[in-house]
Amino acid sequence: MDNRGQRPALSRAPHAHDFFKDIHELRLRLAAVSVNERTDGHVFRVELGLRRCVCGEFLVKAIVFEKHGGPEVLKYTEAPEPQLGARDVLVRVKACALNHLDLWVRGGLPGVPIPLPHIPGSDISGQVAKVGSEVKRVSPGQKVLLAPGVGCGRCAMCLAGQDNKCPEFSNLGYIHDGGCAEFVRCPEVNCFPYPEKLNWEEAAAVPLVFQTAWHMLIGRAQLRPGEQVLVLGAGSGVGSAAIQIAKFFGCRVIATAGSEEKLAKAKELGADETIHHHKEKIRDAVRKLTAKRGVDVVFEHVGTATWDDSFASLSPGGRLVTCGATTGFDAKIDLRFLFVKQLSVLGSYMGTKDEFATVLRLVAAGKLKPIVDRIFPLAECGAAHEYLESGAQFGKVVLTV
Ligand SMILES: [Zn+2]
Repeated sequence: MDNRGQRPALSRAPHAHDFFKDIHELRLRLAAVSVNERTDGHVFRVELGLRRCVCGEFLVKAIVFEKHGGPEVLKYTEAPEPQLGARDVLVRVKACALNHLDLWVRGGLPGVPIPLPHIPGSDISGQVAKVGSEVKRVSPGQKVLLAPGVGCGRCAMCLAGQDNKCPEFSNLGYIHDGGCAEFVRCPEVNCFPYPEKLNWEEAAAVPLVFQTAWHMLIGRAQLRPGEQVLVLGAGSGVGSAAIQIAKFFGCRVIATAGSEEKLAKAKELGADETIHHHKEKIRDAVRKLTAKRGVDVVFEHVGTATWDDSFASLSPGGRLVTCGATTGFDAKIDLRFLFVKQLSVLGSYMGTKDEFATVLRLVAAGKLKPIVDRIFPLAECGAAHEYLESGAQFGKVVLTV
């Protein structure tokens, strides 16, 4: 993404609107006055509903955090209008879905310097508001769903279409400012056709989890029809996506969750068998359900709490694929089982834009369906984070903007 953008405008330098926070009325008056100004830019911005600060900058409503911490660091406030590079697009955000990534980004990650202040939010549906001078494929008014991943666009991996292996790869809302705001800036290449059968919230629930689950099961584990798959955490966004993808490939799906209600929903999504992980030991239940054989593929994202059971649930030649570690990073592997059973442990990170396009075609065809658990208004982002952190959801938690 062109670096002439949000980041400099959001720098820590003292700024006029820091000193005039109590004069909202004046901002509104200034915004109204600017309608009469004869510069197109100002009229355009007022039409978009942007407010103008006393310093002359236009402002957008956004969730911003200035330091890492709990949900209380998320402030519903105003941030400078994102500035576009030549190949960037300004998108009026309609909905932004949350991911576990948002909790990590808010809390801070060791070794990952997230620029502060920061606007989170990776999964964005919306409408193009403005385009940079070299943008060709989208135009104002067009509905779009944004691919979350942002690569450098120049390295060998990006040029090979594997931008999720780019050394500079990140997501909107991760290193770059994200979609928990009225407007977000993104590269033109992140704009994908909107799945017209879905409403804004359903569309926002698609990108990260379906792209991640697809890359894990198809890109990395090379799932084949008829295989047996253990999906951990069926209630999570990636879990609910993985069940559907594995069923689309004609696999037998065994899903785990921590409540009867979630297990029933997993069955509705297509899971053939379910395991209540508080009532049964996962490895024992898998052994029973597979006539002692184990599963071909384990879909992991839970980490320390389930790792041993996941590893022990693999059949000879089985593949364990993981994209996360929500309960911790520590894991052990018994090398005897690894080589004797000829197992594979596969790491997976996000997905490529090509995989995203594939997923969107299947969503548009009704083969894969986003699962929205609960919708919060943007201003209640903190409460939405708390709810996601509680683990009570089945599917996605989405903010409406
Ligand atoms: Zn790159």
